[in-house]
Amino acid sequence: MRVDYHIHVERGPYEIDWLRRFWETAAGRGIGEIGVSEHCYRFKQAGHLLDTEWGRQRCTENIEDYLRLIERARSQGMPVKLGVEVDYLEAREEETARFLEKYPWDYVIGSVHWIGQWGFEYPGGEWEIRGVVRAYHDYFEVFKKAAQSGLFDILGHADLIKIHGYRPTGEITGLLGEVAEVVGRQGLCVEVSTGGLRKTVGEIYPSQSLLELFAKAGAGITLSSDAHDPGDVGRDFDRSVAAAKAAGYREIQTYTGRRRAGVPLT
Ligand SMILES: [Zn+2]
Ligand SMILES: [Zn+2]
Repeated sequence: MRVDYHIHVERGPYEIDWLRRFWETAAGRGIGEIGVSEHCYRFKQAGHLLDTEWGRQRCTENIEDYLRLIERARSQGMPVKLGVEVDYLEAREEETARFLEKYPWDYVIGSVHWIGQWGFEYPGGEWEIRGVVRAYHDYFEVFKKAAQSGLFDILGHADLIKIHGYRPTGEITGLLGEVAEVVGRQGLCVEVSTGGLRKTVGEIYPSQSLLELFAKAGAGITLSSDAHDPGDVGRDFDRSVAAAKAAGYREIQTYTGRRRAGVPLT
């Protein structure tokens, strides 16, 4: 079975016809179940977590509308899980936990988009000051803390720091090994995400070598596209499934009510 557990519908209305377009693409690509994982910063109820001007401009949605949309999809027979993609913010662990406990998630994806106040997905600026080597180290240190936080079920796009194609000189395998061990020990999943194929880096997240470290450490996997448009759901999954199998994975994890269950990877 294949799933796509990282989908954003936020570019359209929280209406069933819009969501159905995502499901129809998924079904056409042989995917048995999808999960919607809106960015939690889009919700008024989570606007206090980022607490920056960037965040204040974006928390315009009512989470109740999102919950109702997923319920409605299920009542119409669509196999849709209720997920959410949450920024890991070091200084906000307690507030994040309090937000998460209020809603009936099937799974929670924890993602590192911020290193302190630095949103590294924007090129230039701080990249020039910090340099690539330090940026990678800082990113993976935050990522490790995200894994240790106990807030999440799945960790999003594990090596997102490569998004612009900048590569550190020198060896970071030791650090990546530590990261993989923490994820495995915590009983978490990482995504095998085709989202990176649509970015400058043009690669799956995580890299094949990092995925092998995760496999060795006993971390589970889910499959993801990070689609923001219906056409991207399940895109390039033959490549991510091949990568997962080459790393030694024979099953993926599915989630219901934050409990995981393995299903054979096909
Ligand atoms: Zn993300
Ligand atoms: Zn995302």
